Amino acid sequence: MTKKPVIFSDFDGTITDRDVIMMIMEAFAPPEWKTIVDQILNQRTLSIREGVQQLFNLIASDRREELIAFVRQNVTLRPGFPEFLAFCKQHEIPFLVVSGGVDFFIQPILEPYRHQLEIFCNTGVFNATTIGLELPYLDESCTPCGQCACCKIAIMDRYPGDTHTRIAIGDSLTDLGMAKAADLVYARARLIEYAEESDVNVTPFETFHDIQRHLEQHLKEIAHVQPA
Ligand code: MG
Repeated sequence: MTKKPVIFSDFDGTITDRDVIMMIMEAFAPPEWKTIVDQILNQRTLSIREGVQQLFNLIASDRREELIAFVRQNVTLRPGFPEFLAFCKQHEIPFLVVSGGVDFFIQPILEPYRHQLEIFCNTGVFNATTIGLELPYLDESCTPCGQCACCKIAIMDRYPGDTHTRIAIGDSLTDLGMAKAADLVYARARLIEYAEESDVNVTPFETFHDIQRHLEQHLKEIAHVQPA
């Protein structure tokens, strides 16, 4: 019996070289964005859901076109990403982007790859003075935390663990839930520390070339289930 591998990848700071939300805040938001980020990530006094909404509320919605032009011009993908998508296609491994980020900046960046992946993220709302967010993948009843802006675990659960090898790729606190639920985790940056604190084993990576090399070596064994 074999299990079908499926990849769940974070976007900000994982597919992209830098966290795009942070890049947007640095370029467009007034200085109080730093306090909000500190409350989310360091003090952990503000939920991700509340925090991310507060962050985008700092920016006027009539700057939408300017924001899109900014991300197109300034966001760089992590090396090896296009090659890795080709590798996944070749091996028929679904690649799902699961992100607490927002469609208006994710879609333009992933536009060239839209046939090679599926995107689950939040929706930007531009009908008020400042940018609002709709959170279509927020599962209020989710027991592991219930406070993310996008429930990555609920999306993973569309691919049950008894028939799938679930592979998570991420870089930060918002990926810890899926790291705990996954069979195999590729982690960089602060996710490595968060995973250590929670006793979750991870394989560190810096580029998608690293992930591809590792997967190439282990594909047979991760897709194989020992008979009971
Ligand atoms: Mg991230």
